[in-house]
Amino acid sequence: MTAARTLKTPQDLADAGLLDRDRLAEIQTVADRYAIAVTPAIAGLINRNDPADPIARQFLPDPAELLTLPEERADPIGDAAHSPVKGIVHRYPDRVLLKAVHVCPVYCRFCFRREMVGPQGEGTLGPDEMAAAMDYIRADTDIWEVILTGGDPLVLSPRRLAAIMEALGAIPHVKIVRFHTRVPVVDPDHIDGALIAALKASGKTTYVALHANHPRELTDAARAACARLIDAGIAMVSQTVLLRGVNDDPAILGALMKGFVETRIKPYYLHHPDLAPGTSHFRMEIAEGQKIVSALRGTISGLCQPTYVLDIPGGHGKAVIGENAIRYGDGCYSVADFRGGEHRYPPQA
Ligand SMILES: *Cc1c(COP(=O)(O)O)cnc(C)c1O
Ligand code: SF4
Repeated sequence: MTAARTLKTPQDLADAGLLDRDRLAEIQTVADRYAIAVTPAIAGLINRNDPADPIARQFLPDPAELLTLPEERADPIGDAAHSPVKGIVHRYPDRVLLKAVHVCPVYCRFCFRREMVGPQGEGTLGPDEMAAAMDYIRADTDIWEVILTGGDPLVLSPRRLAAIMEALGAIPHVKIVRFHTRVPVVDPDHIDGALIAALKASGKTTYVALHANHPRELTDAARAACARLIDAGIAMVSQTVLLRGVNDDPAILGALMKGFVETRIKPYYLHHPDLAPGTSHFRMEIAEGQKIVSALRGTISGLCQPTYVLDIPGGHGKAVIGENAIRYGDGCYSVADFRGGEHRYPPQA
């Protein structure tokens, strides 16, 4: 059974057979706090016979979200501390985030910006706010890359995207425009000729970073949508969140990374989940994450290796947190191979 439109309420989910009617009241409490959206493509991917389905776990509201831990926070990666004008986050000298829209085609239950996105979120930048954001980018010649995120920028109409690309296209020091999106997976038919044309500007390089967390998300339709982007000259990288009960297994994570590479998408980041409110059921110890990531090394191609990162709470940026392969002590290095064997570097004569 495939839904014809996006499911946005517990009642919609129940009508689509994705929620038992006797749980409606309980799930309404979650819906009152955090937005819900499940696209037809995602509803069709959910295995209704599996209570632990990894697709359902990412998108269907769960009472576990009502538990907020003391260390969790509304702005887990400290965007607010680095926002000089509305819609811009400027944490690193050569690149800025441009948050044009705070709406998404789906609402991921583990979202790090869950307090900012959704119908009750921060909305879309108005024309004056967008002009001010562009002025900021134009005024700082160190800004080499603009990263559209949000929200999901690909929910904007081709007309609005083309206007953004035209404005960025006229700024000589901006060379790269990167879009972070889930659309090719959650609404693949939306990636059509008009949208693709709107993502390109003459003289600029466009990257699309695809957010996907489970190999089943890379359906034939999703892969075809990515192929359309790449065939049009857009480069793609991936971004995945390491999630308990979704991909906390080297075999599943490896299959996902291979799926990206088969689709000509270079695996980029594997994020440790951020401390967003009501998401503790998705998080694991960093040591466990390091074990999973180490297991990928040596078992699958180097092309398939993502970089495991943590966004440091408080706005201090990302840190690479994979296990250290090399240690220094007693006047020499000791380096571990993928089987765990230790080797002295340089080797003794
Ligand atoms: C994650 C992030 C970026 C992008 O970082 P990359 O390492 O270039 O992918 C840029 N700005 C902010 C504020 C970020 O949080
Ligand atoms: S698509 Fe991204 S911003 Fe939107 S809910 Fe999912 S994780 Fe959050």
